Amino acid sequence: MIKTPRYMVKKFLIIIFLILLTPVYAQDNRKIFLKSGKHKDFYRFVFICEKSEITNSININLLNDGKIKIFFPDIFEIEYKGRILEEEDNIRGIKTLKKDKVLIIETSDIEEIKVARYDSPSRLVIDAYFKESVERQKVLKSLSILIDPGHGGKDTGFQIKENREKDIAIYIAKTVASRLTQKGIKASLTRASDEDLTLSRRMKIENSLKPSLFLSIHLCSSDNFYIYTSPGIKNPDIMINPFIRKLKEKFSEPVYTEKLPLFLLEKSVSPALMIEIPKRALSDKNYTNRVIDALVQAIIEKFALVEEKEKNE
Ligand SMILES: [Zn+2]
Repeated sequence: MIKTPRYMVKKFLIIIFLILLTPVYAQDNRKIFLKSGKHKDFYRFVFICEKSEITNSININLLNDGKIKIFFPDIFEIEYKGRILEEEDNIRGIKTLKKDKVLIIETSDIEEIKVARYDSPSRLVIDAYFKESVERQKVLKSLSILIDPGHGGKDTGFQIKENREKDIAIYIAKTVASRLTQKGIKASLTRASDEDLTLSRRMKIENSLKPSLFLSIHLCSSDNFYIYTSPGIKNPDIMINPFIRKLKEKFSEPVYTEKLPLFLLEKSVSPALMIEIPKRALSDKNYTNRVIDALVQAIIEKFALVEEKEKNE
Protein backbone atom coordinates (compact mmCIF):
# COMPACT_ATOMS: atom_id res chain seq x y z
CA MET A 1 0.00 0.00 0.00
CA ILE A 2 1.29 3.48 -0.87
CA LYS A 3 0.92 5.84 2.01
CA THR A 4 0.89 9.59 1.52
CA PRO A 5 3.73 10.88 3.64
CA ARG A 6 2.52 12.89 6.59
CA TYR A 7 4.49 16.04 5.59
CA MET A 8 2.71 16.05 2.24
CA VAL A 9 -0.64 16.16 4.01
CA LYS A 10 0.60 18.98 6.16
CA LYS A 11 1.87 20.95 3.17
CA PHE A 12 -1.44 20.42 1.37
CA LEU A 13 -3.39 21.68 4.39
CA ILE A 14 -1.21 24.78 4.62
CA ILE A 15 -1.84 25.57 0.95
CA ILE A 16 -5.60 25.16 1.42
CA PHE A 17 -5.43 27.39 4.47
CA LEU A 18 -3.55 30.10 2.56
CA ILE A 19 -6.06 29.96 -0.30
CA LEU A 20 -8.91 30.35 2.19
CA LEU A 21 -7.10 33.21 3.91
CA THR A 22 -6.40 35.24 0.77
CA PRO A 23 -9.84 36.79 0.29
CA VAL A 24 -9.95 37.78 3.96
CA TYR A 25 -6.55 39.38 3.63
CA ALA A 26 -7.61 41.17 0.46
CA GLN A 27 -10.76 42.38 2.15
CA ASP A 28 -8.68 43.84 4.97
CA ASN A 29 -7.17 46.23 2.48
CA ARG A 30 -10.56 47.95 2.54
CA LYS A 31 -10.55 48.07 6.28
CA ILE A 32 -8.85 50.39 8.69
CA PHE A 33 -8.38 49.44 12.29
CA LEU A 34 -8.83 52.06 14.95
CA LYS A 35 -7.41 52.03 18.46
CA SER A 36 -7.78 54.75 21.04
CA GLY A 37 -6.30 55.67 24.39
CA LYS A 38 -6.90 58.37 26.94
CA HIS A 39 -3.81 59.87 28.48
CA LYS A 40 -3.35 62.57 31.09
CA ASP A 41 -3.21 65.40 28.57
CA PHE A 42 -4.54 63.93 25.35
CA TYR A 43 -6.57 61.35 23.49
CA ARG A 44 -4.64 59.12 21.11
CA PHE A 45 -6.34 57.76 18.00
CA VAL A 46 -4.38 55.26 15.93
CA PHE A 47 -5.50 54.23 12.44
CA ILE A 48 -3.79 51.08 11.23
CA CYS A 49 -3.98 49.57 7.76
CA GLU A 50 -2.04 47.37 5.39
CA LYS A 51 -0.77 50.00 3.03
CA SER A 52 1.26 53.04 3.88
CA GLU A 53 -0.13 54.81 0.76
CA ILE A 54 -3.44 54.84 2.57
CA THR A 55 -2.22 56.11 5.94
CA ASN A 56 -0.08 58.67 4.11
CA SER A 57 -3.06 60.11 2.28
CA ILE A 58 -5.36 60.50 5.28
CA ASN A 59 -5.90 64.18 6.08
CA ILE A 60 -6.83 65.56 9.46
CA ASN A 61 -8.42 68.85 10.48
CA LEU A 62 -9.14 70.25 13.90
CA LEU A 63 -12.35 72.22 13.53
CA ASN A 64 -13.08 75.46 15.39
CA ASP A 65 -15.57 73.75 17.67
CA GLY A 66 -12.95 71.20 18.81
CA LYS A 67 -14.14 68.32 16.61
CA ILE A 68 -11.63 66.26 14.65
CA LYS A 69 -12.40 65.71 10.98
CA ILE A 70 -10.57 62.91 9.17
CA PHE A 71 -10.59 62.53 5.39
CA PHE A 72 -9.74 59.10 3.97
CA PRO A 73 -8.59 58.60 0.36
CA ASP A 74 -11.46 56.18 -0.24
CA ILE A 75 -14.45 54.63 1.50
CA PHE A 76 -13.21 52.30 4.19
CA GLU A 77 -14.73 50.25 6.93
CA ILE A 78 -13.34 51.27 10.27
CA GLU A 79 -13.02 48.50 12.80
CA TYR A 80 -12.97 49.53 16.43
CA LYS A 81 -12.89 46.99 19.27
CA GLY A 82 -13.96 44.14 16.99
CA ARG A 83 -16.94 45.90 15.41
CA ILE A 84 -17.36 48.10 12.35
CA LEU A 85 -18.14 51.73 13.11
CA GLU A 86 -21.61 52.68 11.99
CA GLU A 87 -22.65 55.99 10.49
CA GLU A 88 -23.45 57.27 13.97
CA ASP A 89 -21.39 55.59 16.62
CA ASN A 90 -19.05 56.35 19.50
CA ILE A 91 -15.48 55.84 20.63
CA ARG A 92 -14.93 56.01 24.40
CA GLY A 93 -18.29 57.71 24.71
CA ILE A 94 -17.32 60.36 22.14
CA LYS A 95 -19.83 60.54 19.31
CA THR A 96 -18.54 59.72 15.83
CA LEU A 97 -20.08 60.42 12.48
CA LYS A 98 -18.95 58.47 9.44
CA LYS A 99 -20.06 59.42 5.99
CA ASP A 100 -18.40 58.33 2.76
CA LYS A 101 -14.73 59.18 3.04
CA VAL A 102 -15.07 61.30 6.19
CA LEU A 103 -15.01 60.45 9.87
CA ILE A 104 -15.79 63.12 12.44
CA ILE A 105 -14.86 62.53 16.06
CA GLU A 106 -17.10 64.88 17.99
CA THR A 107 -14.68 65.97 20.68
CA SER A 108 -15.25 69.41 22.17
CA ASP A 109 -12.38 70.01 24.55
CA ILE A 110 -9.46 69.74 22.14
CA GLU A 111 -7.05 72.65 21.77
CA GLU A 112 -4.46 71.19 19.42
CA ILE A 113 -3.59 68.01 17.57
CA LYS A 114 -0.30 66.39 16.65
CA VAL A 115 -0.18 63.92 13.79
CA ALA A 116 2.50 61.31 13.15
CA ARG A 117 2.83 58.45 10.68
CA TYR A 118 4.74 55.22 11.24
CA ASP A 119 5.55 52.01 9.37
CA SER A 120 5.23 48.29 10.14
CA PRO A 121 2.39 48.24 10.65
CA SER A 122 1.63 51.34 8.68
CA ARG A 123 -0.33 53.64 10.94
CA LEU A 124 -1.40 57.17 11.56
CA VAL A 125 -1.34 58.52 15.10
CA ILE A 126 -3.37 61.53 16.17
CA ASP A 127 -2.73 62.98 19.60
CA ALA A 128 -5.51 65.38 20.50
CA TYR A 129 -4.56 67.63 23.41
CA PHE A 130 -7.17 68.84 25.87
CA LYS A 131 -7.67 72.58 26.20
CA GLU A 132 -7.00 72.38 29.90
CA SER A 133 -3.65 70.67 29.37
CA VAL A 134 -2.51 73.28 26.85
CA GLU A 135 -3.49 75.94 29.41
CA ARG A 136 -1.64 73.98 32.06
CA GLN A 137 1.50 73.82 29.92
CA LYS A 138 1.34 77.59 29.53
CA VAL A 139 1.00 78.02 33.30
CA LEU A 140 3.89 75.61 33.81
CA LYS A 141 6.13 77.53 31.45
CA SER A 142 5.33 80.81 33.15
CA LEU A 143 6.29 79.47 36.58
CA SER A 144 9.60 80.02 38.25
CA ILE A 145 10.76 78.71 41.59
CA LEU A 146 13.72 80.13 43.46
CA ILE A 147 15.25 77.72 45.94
CA ASP A 148 17.51 78.97 48.66
CA PRO A 149 19.84 76.42 50.28
CA GLY A 150 20.49 77.68 53.82
CA HIS A 151 23.95 78.71 55.04
CA GLY A 152 27.12 78.07 52.98
CA GLY A 153 30.85 78.83 53.10
CA LYS A 154 32.07 79.54 56.63
CA ASP A 155 28.51 79.24 57.89
CA THR A 156 28.06 75.47 58.09
CA GLY A 157 24.72 75.63 59.86
CA PHE A 158 23.72 72.77 62.11
CA GLN A 159 26.25 69.93 62.26
CA ILE A 160 26.54 66.39 63.64
CA LYS A 161 30.03 64.90 63.27
CA GLU A 162 31.08 65.49 59.64
CA ASN A 163 27.51 66.01 58.38
CA ARG A 164 26.72 69.67 57.82
CA GLU A 165 23.42 71.40 57.20
CA LYS A 166 24.86 73.57 54.41
CA ASP A 167 25.82 70.50 52.34
CA ILE A 168 22.51 68.68 52.77
CA ALA A 169 20.58 71.89 52.06
CA ILE A 170 22.39 72.42 48.76
CA TYR A 171 21.98 68.76 47.80
CA ILE A 172 18.23 68.99 48.40
CA ALA A 173 17.93 72.36 46.64
CA LYS A 174 19.90 71.24 43.57
CA THR A 175 18.01 67.96 43.23
CA VAL A 176 14.60 69.59 43.64
CA ALA A 177 15.58 72.25 41.08
CA SER A 178 16.71 69.73 38.48
CA ARG A 179 13.59 67.60 38.99
CA LEU A 180 11.39 70.68 38.47
CA THR A 181 13.35 71.66 35.36
CA GLN A 182 12.69 68.19 33.95
CA LYS A 183 8.98 68.87 34.45
CA GLY A 184 9.27 72.12 32.49
CA ILE A 185 9.23 74.42 35.54
CA LYS A 186 11.94 77.06 35.68
CA ALA A 187 13.95 76.63 38.84
CA SER A 188 16.97 78.53 40.09
CA LEU A 189 19.13 78.66 43.19
CA THR A 190 20.36 81.53 45.35
CA ARG A 191 23.64 79.67 45.70
CA ALA A 192 24.82 76.75 43.58
CA SER A 193 28.09 76.17 45.38
CA ASP A 194 29.52 76.20 48.87
CA GLU A 195 29.82 79.96 49.23
CA ASP A 196 29.16 82.59 51.85
CA LEU A 197 25.97 84.36 50.95
CA THR A 198 24.48 87.07 53.12
CA LEU A 199 20.77 87.28 53.69
CA SER A 200 20.59 90.61 51.90
CA ARG A 201 22.39 89.12 48.88
CA ARG A 202 19.84 86.30 48.83
CA MET A 203 17.08 88.90 48.96
CA LYS A 204 18.60 90.87 46.09
CA ILE A 205 18.47 87.73 43.95
CA GLU A 206 14.86 87.10 44.98
CA ASN A 207 13.81 90.71 44.42
CA SER A 208 15.28 90.79 40.92
CA LEU A 209 13.96 87.36 39.82
CA LYS A 210 10.49 87.81 41.37
CA PRO A 211 9.80 84.06 41.25
CA SER A 212 6.36 82.45 41.60
CA LEU A 213 7.60 80.85 44.80
CA PHE A 214 10.62 81.41 47.03
CA LEU A 215 11.58 78.35 49.05
CA SER A 216 14.32 78.44 51.64
CA ILE A 217 15.64 75.07 52.81
CA HIS A 218 17.09 74.33 56.23
CA LEU A 219 17.51 71.42 58.59
CA CYS A 220 16.64 71.49 62.27
CA SER A 221 18.06 69.84 65.35
CA SER A 222 14.73 68.14 66.16
CA ASP A 223 12.67 65.38 64.58
CA ASN A 224 9.94 67.69 63.31
CA PHE A 225 9.16 69.48 60.11
CA TYR A 226 8.62 73.24 60.39
CA ILE A 227 7.12 75.46 57.75
CA TYR A 228 7.54 79.18 58.34
CA THR A 229 5.77 82.01 56.56
CA SER A 230 5.85 85.74 57.01
CA PRO A 231 3.27 87.18 59.45
CA GLY A 232 2.39 89.68 56.72
CA ILE A 233 0.98 87.04 54.39
CA LYS A 234 -2.81 87.24 54.20
CA ASN A 235 -3.64 83.70 53.20
CA PRO A 236 -0.65 81.42 53.78
CA ASP A 237 -2.76 78.23 53.68
CA ILE A 238 -3.00 78.22 49.89
CA MET A 239 0.78 78.23 49.70
CA ILE A 240 1.63 75.84 52.50
CA ASN A 241 -1.21 73.30 52.41
CA PRO A 242 0.27 71.18 49.60
CA PHE A 243 3.53 70.96 51.58
CA ILE A 244 1.76 70.00 54.80
CA ARG A 245 -0.32 67.42 52.96
CA LYS A 246 2.63 65.79 51.19
CA LEU A 247 4.86 65.70 54.26
CA LYS A 248 2.09 64.23 56.42
CA GLU A 249 1.31 61.68 53.74
CA LYS A 250 4.89 60.49 53.43
CA PHE A 251 6.36 60.93 56.92
CA SER A 252 5.41 60.07 60.46
CA GLU A 253 7.19 63.12 61.90
CA PRO A 254 4.88 65.98 62.91
CA VAL A 255 4.61 69.02 60.65
CA TYR A 256 4.38 72.37 62.41
CA THR A 257 3.62 75.69 60.80
CA GLU A 258 4.39 79.09 62.18
CA LYS A 259 4.39 82.74 61.16
CA LEU A 260 7.83 84.15 61.85
CA PRO A 261 9.16 87.63 61.08
CA LEU A 262 12.32 86.28 59.46
CA PHE A 263 14.29 88.64 57.23
CA LEU A 264 14.05 86.31 54.19
CA LEU A 265 10.31 85.93 54.54
CA GLU A 266 9.58 89.57 55.34
CA LYS A 267 11.66 91.08 52.56
CA SER A 268 10.64 88.66 49.85
CA VAL A 269 8.53 90.18 47.08
CA SER A 270 7.18 86.73 46.15
CA PRO A 271 5.22 84.16 48.14
CA ALA A 272 7.95 82.82 50.40
CA LEU A 273 8.34 79.96 52.80
CA MET A 274 11.09 78.36 54.78
CA ILE A 275 11.11 74.66 55.51
CA GLU A 276 13.11 73.01 58.25
CA ILE A 277 13.69 69.32 57.76
CA PRO A 278 14.22 66.82 60.61
CA LYS A 279 17.85 66.17 61.57
CA ARG A 280 17.63 62.60 60.27
CA ALA A 281 18.20 64.06 56.79
CA LEU A 282 21.76 64.93 57.87
CA SER A 283 22.93 61.33 57.85
CA ASP A 284 20.22 59.28 56.11
CA LYS A 285 20.44 59.71 52.35
CA ASN A 286 17.38 57.59 51.68
CA TYR A 287 15.36 59.79 54.01
CA THR A 288 16.72 62.93 52.33
CA ASN A 289 15.65 61.59 48.95
CA ARG A 290 12.16 60.96 50.27
CA VAL A 291 12.04 64.57 51.45
CA ILE A 292 13.08 65.66 47.95
CA ASP A 293 10.25 63.59 46.42
CA ALA A 294 7.74 65.17 48.78
CA LEU A 295 8.92 68.71 48.04
CA VAL A 296 8.82 68.21 44.28
CA GLN A 297 5.34 66.70 44.47
CA ALA A 298 4.11 69.47 46.76
CA ILE A 299 5.36 72.17 44.37
CA ILE A 300 3.76 70.45 41.41
CA GLU A 301 0.53 69.92 43.34
CA LYS A 302 0.57 73.50 44.50
CA PHE A 303 0.35 74.52 40.88
CA ALA A 304 -2.46 72.00 40.36
CA LEU A 305 -0.68 69.47 38.26
CA VAL A 306 -2.15 66.18 39.22
CA GLU A 307 -0.34 63.18 37.85
CA GLU A 308 -2.69 60.59 36.43
CA LYS A 309 -1.90 57.16 35.23
CA GLU A 310 -2.20 56.65 31.54
CA LYS A 311 -5.30 54.77 30.55
CA ASN A 312 -5.02 52.73 27.42
CA GLU A 313 -7.07 50.38 25.41
ZN1 LIG B 1 19.58 76.50 58.98
